[in-house]
Amino acid sequence: MLPAPHQALEPRDLPVPEAGPGQVLLRVLACGVCRTDLHIVDAELARPKLPLVLGHQIVGETEDGRRLGVPWLGWTCGRCRYCISGRENLCDFARFTGYDLDGGYAEYAVADERFCFPIPEGYSDVDAAPLLCAGLIGYRSLRLAGDAERLGLYGFGASAHIVAQVARHQGRRLFGFVRRGDEAARAFALELGCEWAGASDELPPEELDAAILFAPAGELVPAALHALAKGGTVVCAGIHMSDIPSFPYELLWEERVIRSVANLTRVDGDEFLALVPEVPVRTQVEVFPLEQANDALERLRHGGIRGAAVLQP
Ligand SMILES: [Zn+2]
Ligand SMILES: [Zn+2]
Repeated sequence: MLPAPHQALEPRDLPVPEAGPGQVLLRVLACGVCRTDLHIVDAELARPKLPLVLGHQIVGETEDGRRLGVPWLGWTCGRCRYCISGRENLCDFARFTGYDLDGGYAEYAVADERFCFPIPEGYSDVDAAPLLCAGLIGYRSLRLAGDAERLGLYGFGASAHIVAQVARHQGRRLFGFVRRGDEAARAFALELGCEWAGASDELPPEELDAAILFAPAGELVPAALHALAKGGTVVCAGIHMSDIPSFPYELLWEERVIRSVANLTRVDGDEFLALVPEVPVRTQVEVFPLEQANDALERLRHGGIRGAAVLQP
């Protein structure tokens, strides 16, 4: 449990939560670790519930033995202008798992069943966990990149390693960008189907039709604009990013676009989880026991995870 921002998570003995109306009680089987969790710990997101159980990539088992996934979007009002126009990801009153609501760094969790997804067959608990945010929000980012043939992925962590597989399946050409000098990440990007991989301040051998930024570094926005062809889009996939340095208008000129991606809709989840076994997406995970949640977060902070980190109670 996170007692307050900037503190380490502390183990706590909590009662098994009680499912309210419309909710299910889940025994947590696995929970993915996401960069957003670090942004919450670091107080880069303004208003978490405190104390808070982090974790929004929960694979859990219901009391009647079904395996359900709980994503970041935990509840929406169903009535605001965003909800009624198919944009529940932007709901004015949305509640998020592991932020407004206690999440899955725990042995038990409750969730509104309307926002849970069945876990696809053939995926183990730990392999499925990163699909629920890294995969799902990555998929939404990919969709918002349009029909770009030449796609740049900046930051080769949990999201990119899943999105790369989906994008290749869709016949796109991939270009990977990693921290300068991070040879392991560069090799990982090539292994996952990038035809070229280099440092994020390098220009790829060809112009890109779109770029998705998974790394939370604002200076990547002008760097990615530099790499774009006319009419190309830079998609910022993260929930938080350091400030974007100013840049000449010329970089944006010729109908280049910069956009962000916020949260997910249940339609994204249904589409993505139907696609996962077709690709088929193979996640690479590093599993930590729940008690080592702080270690997992620190490893993620320093870029030391290959693929995705997953906690197991
Ligand atoms: Zn996340
Ligand atoms: Zn709403």
